[in-house]
Amino acid sequence: MSETTEELPQSLVTETEDNAVTEEDTSLVDSEGKNSKSLSCLNCNCLLLRPNIALLKSLPSVMVREDSTHGLEVLSDFWMVSDMFQFENMAFSKNVEDMKYLACAECDIGPIGWHNLCDQKCYIAINRIKHH
Ligand SMILES: [Zn+2]
Repeated sequence: MSETTEELPQSLVTETEDNAVTEEDTSLVDSEGKNSKSLSCLNCNCLLLRPNIALLKSLPSVMVREDSTHGLEVLSDFWMVSDMFQFENMAFSKNVEDMKYLACAECDIGPIGWHNLCDQKCYIAINRIKHH
């Protein structure tokens, strides 16, 4: 009589921990899913967008080119603005393939997002700007 039973040791069973709760993010969105706060430049506080204009969008990991000291940064949460004329202040780069990069109109820091020339929508990375 040969009977082989295989049992997995309990230590292989891993529990998923959900410790990354971002309460801060929900307060940035109003009941319509739009920005409840003004968006402004991290560097010079220049007002970029007034409240209740942009929609919060999560995109599957977008790589944004940084300067040589920072390398690549993966961003996933963006404010989508459907009309580029809704910005209070925003500088647009020259066309780069099908997009323009966005930068602060005051201090020129960026890119803080991009303008898609195909659908005319703008995306601002939420961790590249200040909410207040
Ligand atoms: Zn600025």
